[in-house]
Amino acid sequence: MTGMSKWFPRAIRGAFLYPAIPTGIGLTLCAGVILSVAVGVILKNWEEERRQAEILHQTEDLAADLERSVNSNLDALRWLGQFYAVSAGVDADATSDDVQEGFREVATFTLARYRGIHTLAWVTPEGGKLGDGETSGLPNPRPEVFRLTYIEPEANKFGLSRIDMGANAGIVGAIAHARATGELTLISQILLPSSEKGGAPTLSRLGSGVGGEGNSEERPLYGEGLFAVMPVYGLGKQDAVSDQSNRQKTNSKHELRGFILGFLPLADVIKTSVNRIQTTAIDVCLYEETGTGVRKLLAFYEASTGLVKTNSQVSFCRDADPSLGETRFLKAGDRQWALLFLPGPESLNAPSVLNWLPLLGGLLWSSIPITTLAISLSNTYRREQLLQKLSVANDELSTANTEIVALNRMSDLLQACLTVEEACTVIPLLLKPMFPKLNGGVFTLSDSKNIVEAVLSWGQPLTTEQIFHPEQCLALRCGQPYFFANTDASLCCGHVHYHNDVAEYICIPMAAQGEILGVFYLSSPLAGELSPGKQRLAQMTARQIAVALANLKLRDTLKDQSIRDPLTGLFNRRYMEESLEREVRRAERNNQPIGIMMLDVDHFKRFNDTFGHEAGDIILRELSQVLQLSIRSSDIACRYGGEEFALIMPEAPLDITLQRAEKLCQKVRTLKVQYRHQLLGPLTVSLGVASFPQHGPTGGSLIQAADAALYRAKNEGRDRVCLAS
Ligand code: GH3
Ligand code: MG
Ligand code: MG
Repeated sequence: MTGMSKWFPRAIRGAFLYPAIPTGIGLTLCAGVILSVAVGVILKNWEEERRQAEILHQTEDLAADLERSVNSNLDALRWLGQFYAVSAGVDADATSDDVQEGFREVATFTLARYRGIHTLAWVTPEGGKLGDGETSGLPNPRPEVFRLTYIEPEANKFGLSRIDMGANAGIVGAIAHARATGELTLISQILLPSSEKGGAPTLSRLGSGVGGEGNSEERPLYGEGLFAVMPVYGLGKQDAVSDQSNRQKTNSKHELRGFILGFLPLADVIKTSVNRIQTTAIDVCLYEETGTGVRKLLAFYEASTGLVKTNSQVSFCRDADPSLGETRFLKAGDRQWALLFLPGPESLNAPSVLNWLPLLGGLLWSSIPITTLAISLSNTYRREQLLQKLSVANDELSTANTEIVALNRMSDLLQACLTVEEACTVIPLLLKPMFPKLNGGVFTLSDSKNIVEAVLSWGQPLTTEQIFHPEQCLALRCGQPYFFANTDASLCCGHVHYHNDVAEYICIPMAAQGEILGVFYLSSPLAGELSPGKQRLAQMTARQIAVALANLKLRDTLKDQSIRDPLTGLFNRRYMEESLEREVRRAERNNQPIGIMMLDVDHFKRFNDTFGHEAGDIILRELSQVLQLSIRSSDIACRYGGEEFALIMPEAPLDITLQRAEKLCQKVRTLKVQYRHQLLGPLTVSLGVASFPQHGPTGGSLIQAADAALYRAKNEGRDRVCLAS
């Protein structure tokens, strides 16, 4: 998260480094907004126009279809009237069964062919003939009684049997009008009830329900629709083919046989047309123009429910504002109808894919600058990452370079060191800058391998023992570096003082030429200072120090081997002669004396012969020890050869040298050497003493003088000191 919080502001800054980027993004966004709005407006208008055109188209189609449908059904009724006018089966003389049978056949055919007609009825004047009213004509025909002779298809269901002409002015008027004009006459908004409620409804009762004025709640509605009255006049066969326009004139000459009544449920007719046209989301109001400028609602088609509701069921669109929709006029028989098409709420809110197009376009357009910004951010982020990596790599490289320089410097300086002591003085000075915040030390393993001792250290306080056993160090035990990071005290090396000053430490075994030489130790009071890099550097440093110490040790060993006698550890003859020459020159410069002693074991051959060569060696080693302990550190004790020794005592005057020689002779006399629990002795030595400058000006002359004195001591009986002459 911290990484993110770092790079993100940088990335934003980076993205806006070039003025072209923010300017380009801003312009593109503005263009996107303008384009989206413009496209949205254009598409909305286009969609509106398209919807209007569709409504208009459907309006035209529906009006035409409805007109055609109603009129074709009415034509069927006209045709039926014509048919019965010439049919002999409906003569007054015909039996009722014949009439019924004939009508049923024709009605069945008609109903099957014209689906808009729901019910057909044949009405005859009661008694078989019309009364005087048959010729009286309009306008006030006498109330007459008609017999509803046959109804197809549901005569029984309706149980209609009589028509009381006096019961309803509408029906009376229609029948009178039909009889007078000989034309098909329509009554709209007729309710046809079911007979299931009981009773035997009559057409007069039906008529009383016209216009919703009657007591309609007492009977369930069967349907509401158009009622058509077609008069049938008996015509001669020759008259049946005469011109229709002369019908009015011939009516009075022929007998009125009855009326054919047809019922067209408006709901069915409208629904059939709607289904045929497949209108969508358009409400339709059907009105009848009354001629007085008043519209009478006949039916209402509701697009949302797909139902046609008639006047008695719906009232709200009686006063619908024609300006809200499209109006078409049509003629149904002798009636003038108006169709008002209203876009339904679904139509207005119809979801359209086009509505989403501007948004989609805007999104696509806006995605260009966003993508640009994202790419820019991504590139900036990548660049930042690379720069960070580069920076880290640079730092590491720089650190590594510094460390290599320091290591090389250390290597050079250590190579220049002649002794281990010298190296131990130099190493802390080199290590401090390499490990500035750390304490540390170099510990060497004794030749006996049982003691680890600090030869150098730096930083205070040193958090480890100065001397400890190798087993206390986990690194020496495991033979590999051991890093401790303040985890558990039980995992801490035994030589380390575990307390607050040690947050972490590392012990690195120092090995060279296959030999463990000691331990390189580093500790920090703060956690995190001994980073992996520092640990690597510490290991390289430990290796350098180990190699340097091993070299110095080897150098010391070789030097020792070249100047010392391996049996006694004393300097050899060559070293003694060189040293004597050097001391003589110095003594000359400083005007100081030098004491020289030559010492030879008396009858040494006997020891060898008696106790063996090994016993002789032991005597030589014991004697060497006595010599070493009897001289000062500035004096030089040498094995001159065989069982013969020489002592050089710079600045020692002759008398002191003589005293020391006597003491030495005395000391050897009391020396008790044991070999395999057996006492070797008695042991005596003979000594010859010379002094610079009395007995010679050079080293060689001094040795000769001392040797001569020794020879004399031998001759004088051994176990004594003789002074050179
Ligand atoms: P003198 O009192 O006259 O000096 O008698 P000496 O026996 O000491 O002298 P000599 O020169 O006859 O014998 C020296 C012997 O020392 C001879 C040699 O075998 C022995 N010797 C010389 N070097 C060594 C040595 O390194 N180890 C042993 N064990 N014997 C040695
Ligand atoms: Mg000898
Ligand atoms: Mg001897």
